[in-house]
Formats: sequence, C-alpha cells, structure tokens
Amino acid sequence: MVAGGPVIGSPPATKRPMLDSEMLARDGVFEGVDLTALAAVEGTPLYVYSPAMIRTRYRALRHALAGLDAGICYAVKANGNRAVLELLAAEGSGADIVSGGELQRALRAGIAAERIVFSGVGKSVAEVEAALAAGVGRFNLESLAELETLQSVARRRGTVARASARINPDVDALTHAKISTGRAENKFGVSIGEARSWFASAQRWPDVRLDGLHMHIGSQLLSLEPMHEALARMADFARTLLAAGSELACIDVGGGLGVRYREGEKAPSAEEYAAAIRHALGWFEGRILVEPGRWLVAEAGLLLSRVLLEKQGDTRRFLVLDAAMNDLLRPSLYDAWHDIVPLPVDGSGPQERVAYDVVGPVCETGDTFATARQLPRCQAGQLVAILASGAYGASMASNYNSRPLPAEVFVDAGRYAVVRRRQTLDEMLAGEQSTADWTSP
Ligand SMILES: *Cc1c(COP(=O)(O)O)cnc(C)c1O
Repeated sequence: MVAGGPVIGSPPATKRPMLDSEMLARDGVFEGVDLTALAAVEGTPLYVYSPAMIRTRYRALRHALAGLDAGICYAVKANGNRAVLELLAAEGSGADIVSGGELQRALRAGIAAERIVFSGVGKSVAEVEAALAAGVGRFNLESLAELETLQSVARRRGTVARASARINPDVDALTHAKISTGRAENKFGVSIGEARSWFASAQRWPDVRLDGLHMHIGSQLLSLEPMHEALARMADFARTLLAAGSELACIDVGGGLGVRYREGEKAPSAEEYAAAIRHALGWFEGRILVEPGRWLVAEAGLLLSRVLLEKQGDTRRFLVLDAAMNDLLRPSLYDAWHDIVPLPVDGSGPQERVAYDVVGPVCETGDTFATARQLPRCQAGQLVAILASGAYGASMASNYNSRPLPAEVFVDAGRYAVVRRRQTLDEMLAGEQSTADWTSP
C-alpha cells in the first residue's frame, strides 16, 4: 500500500460535476430533458436524478482514494432507489445498511453481500439472522448487548461473524444537532474505553471475529476539522490496539462529507477528504472503508414541483407548491436550506423579485421549504425546482396527509426513465382493513 503516495489511475470524467442552476432557470432543461415537458407527462411532485452526476461523484471519490486499500460502502439510507443502487453496484460500490429492509434493497440491486456493512444502534435478532444468512461482510457494533446478540446468533447458525466496534470519538461535528452523531451524549457507538475492553476480552465472543473499528461522526460536514480530530483519535486507538496484540483488519471512517445546498457554500472536495484519511491512516496496513451517502447523490437530484397558488397574507406572501414536507422533509426537520429555482414560463420576460414563504399544502406550519426567500415573481401553474434533493429526499418521504409517494425519474442525454412510479391511491391504502376480524393474540 502506498501511504500518502501518488494518485494513480486516470482522472475521473468531470464533464457534469453538478447542476448548473443558471442554465436551469434560463432553459428549464436538466441533462438535456425539458422539465416542463417531463412534468406534463409524469406529473408533480417528481424527483429527478442525473445518473451521470452520481457516477461522476463515485468515480471522483474512487480516484481520490487511489493508492489506499479503500472500499466505498454507499449509505443506502440517503437514497435507496433500486436504480441508484444498481448504478452504484455496477461501479463496484458496497453498501452501508441500517435495517433488514436496506439489506434486501442492496442485495436485490446486485451489491455483493461481502461488500455490505451493517450499521445501526438497534438491530433486531431477525435482522442479524437475515444479514448473517446473506453473508454480509461486517457488522458495525454499537453496544455490548448487540455484541452478545451477534455472538449468540452466529453460534446458533454455526458461523463466525466479522465485526467492528463503532467508537464514539466525542468530537463536535459542527453540523446540525439532529445530524450530529459523534458526541459522547449521542446514542451512537461506544466510548474508546469500552471498545478497548471488548478487544481485551475478545475471546469471550468466540463466534464473533472482532477485528475492525468504525466511526461516523455526523452528516453534512462542511469543515474537515472535526473529521481530522476524529480520525486522529481513531488512529491513536488503532495503534494502541495493535500494540496490545489485537487483530485489526479494517478501519471504517463512516460518511458525513457535506455538499453545497446553497449557492456560494463551500464543501470539502473528495481530494481534501481523502487527504485527511491518508494523513491519519496512511500507515494502516488493513482495509479502509468509507460510507458516503449524501455526497454521492444529493446534488444529482432535484424535486420538481408545481405552484398551486400565490397567497398574500397580512404580513407575508406565500407561494403554495404541490410538493410538501411529506415529499421532502429536510427543511421541516433540520431547518435545511435548499436553493429553489423557478423554471421559465413561455412568453414572460424577466420578473420582479419577491420575498416568498415557500410552503406545501400539508396541515403543519412546519411545512415550509423556505422563509422570505427572494425569488422571481411566480405564477400559478409554474414549475419550480428544489435543488440538491437527491439525498434524504425520497428516502424520507411519507404518506402524511394521505399524500401518495412521489414518482422518481432518471434523466440522461435528453431521455428519461421512471425509476419509481407514482404511488397510486390503492397502493397507499393497501393493507388497511376494517375491524371485522377481532381475535386474541
Ligand atoms: C447516515 C450514515 C452514513 C452516511 O452519511 P452521509 O452524511 O449521508 O454521508 C454513513 N454511515 C453511517 C453509519 C450512517 O448512519
């Protein structure tokens, strides 16, 4: 392994690294597809993703990590759409999963089981069984109770499970509190002290091969400072374990790399991220795993929505869209900013700018995409694109207010493909029944 050595391989294609919002506002075109025509056929709200942009990101990260014995395990929860997973599987990606459902998604998309790592603070026995039966590569363990469960399930199945201890390095990821996971007070992982005791008595769990370390300090990191800090603590701990004679085959540094949600915002590059990993772990002779989610897919997607109406309140002007918090939860849940681009309307010239509260139809005040946002004056029926919605968008969508799940499409070189059709009302209601059949448990 070349620690800190030269980057090998040819540079990745950088033809379309990200969406051009000015072009979108001027032409209403994304990857050669006219979004007005697309919305007329497929309806709104509609998630629109560029597979080329996802591929470009994946290859850029791969390239940045060249020279390290590194694997990329895409965090399925960011966007678990089958077509997205198939695309990444074809690129050779593994997966980071957090449930039995995500295990099924990853396997069905063709991601090799040995490239799957299973994270999460509360895995059920059934999920552990299913993952062992499938042959997942590694369990990222977050508690002693979970280590015990893995031991007993592996024993019962007559197999040896590979596992990493998820350590909580106790650093402040300097991100939104709800997506910060690496402080001592968060529910995730165990302290370095506790992990040390697991390794020291590893023979107590003979059917678990505890030979890895894992961390994930938070999401949407726009500064690499916390990452440097956490990596340094991880590296120190790894050296201590090795010096004590423990086996260490894998260090998983988690995900969290941030993206640009707002024009002018600066996110770390893949090169800077890889340099931080090289700096801290270049000496390590085992495998290094990274678990990016958001960084691979967020900027490759937009949520296309139609303006239902404009409403002038006593003090505020509202733009009511047909998309709502059930389709894209991030603004409600995290106060997240998403750039919003009104698409051009035939025959209208440049519009005056207006401060809008951009809201959805759901019966919650929190159903707000933006507050006092300066936008060109919009009209009913006009389309708007909510940018950087490829991650934690569709995957967090719900049926709240009995709104069917939105459709999702890929766009590429002037063509589109539906990758999830719009949920029908019957599908939404399926499974519910009247109380005709009372019975005892
Ligand atoms: C959510 C999560 C990720 C991905 O986080 P991003 O911020 O989307 O990169 C990676 N690893 C674990 C354990 C996670 O929970």
